[in-house]
Amino acid sequence: MKFIDLEAQQARVRDLMEKGIQQVLDHQQFIMGPEIGRLEETLARYVGSPHAVGCGSGTDALLLALMAFDVGPGDAVLTTPFTFIATAEVIALLGATPVFVDIEPETFNLDPEALAETLQALQSGKPGPVPSAGDRRPPVPKGVIAIDLFGIPADYERITAVAEDAGLFVVEDAAQSFGAARRGRRCGSFGAVAATSFFPAKPLGCCGDGGMCFTADADLAGRMQSIRVHGQGKDRYEHLRIGINGRLDTLQAAVLLAKFTIFPDEIERRGAVARNYGRVLRERSIPLRTPVVPEGVTPAWAQYSVLAEDSTHRDRCREALHAAGIPTAVYYPVPLHLQPAFAFLEYRKGQFPVSEDTAERIFSLPMHPYLSEEDQQRIAEVLAAV
Ligand SMILES: *Cc1c(COP(=O)(O)O)cnc(C)c1O
Repeated sequence: MKFIDLEAQQARVRDLMEKGIQQVLDHQQFIMGPEIGRLEETLARYVGSPHAVGCGSGTDALLLALMAFDVGPGDAVLTTPFTFIATAEVIALLGATPVFVDIEPETFNLDPEALAETLQALQSGKPGPVPSAGDRRPPVPKGVIAIDLFGIPADYERITAVAEDAGLFVVEDAAQSFGAARRGRRCGSFGAVAATSFFPAKPLGCCGDGGMCFTADADLAGRMQSIRVHGQGKDRYEHLRIGINGRLDTLQAAVLLAKFTIFPDEIERRGAVARNYGRVLRERSIPLRTPVVPEGVTPAWAQYSVLAEDSTHRDRCREALHAAGIPTAVYYPVPLHLQPAFAFLEYRKGQFPVSEDTAERIFSLPMHPYLSEEDQQRIAEVLAAV
């Protein structure tokens, strides 16, 4: 059994992918070829956002977003410690300070109440759940990055209200949620800028690295287009600002155009797989907490993550599945505030209890659009015997 079955997907669109790749080999516009614009237009329309900016990866997409807001030294950007490192990495990379905020236990997404409390603590200068500033001036809050973890959108109504009150921008990390929706709006349309990833294992993946930013703001879109190509101005050798080489490859855009033709169907299939997991796990009364889907939400199901009773129970479940040839994964075993890379922030164990507890108990079952009901029955049988 596979954790993610890219082979079954490729079999459906292989011809279309080959045709697209061949066209690029023929026209040879490997950098910013016509497929880039076509993909940007197609995905902007799907998401319901006026502007799309293709880029080199999901990490580059987050970087472009923060650079468009001029994030730098002295700024604080708030996010959760329960995410892939890229979310907080780009903050530190720009010399700004990541300030962590704990997650909601149900969705594993940014807790809006904890966000408001952390902002208050930061603004009052009182000691609180904020990193040590040493003798330096405490960082000034500038923005928030909310993550749609495992493909379930964050609570944007409440997060945006808290952020707007404090004059902060919101960036949506939609790396795992392309294809998801919340109250009639697709992921990629929340926040001032949304950043997504086309890493092969994401809901819409290419054959290498790729990413995209979405925004309704023409000025931000223009800044990100410029930053993506070395801060380019009106021509190739005018540079208005410091930028990066963050372009999406034309070949990857061609692959994505082909894969996108079956993407809406794949999102439906993922939904059916998730519903079936709920059913088979419930039928056998397996003591794992299945994902909580908030009202009005259609997840992208990048992962199907369950909570065990404790870390021993998790180990037993994973070992039993492994012995039966069923792969599992743990996203994420160590919250970011306890990672060596962020030791300089001087956070301690115990500061983000929900993230820490979740990291000890969570694991993900195989999830992809082509997972059969028989395979899901087998998974449930193995878990029932634990
Ligand atoms: C995958 C991922 C990223 C980074 O995307 P890359 O394309 O691998 O750079 C950022 N944030 C989250 C939440 C992710 O899952």
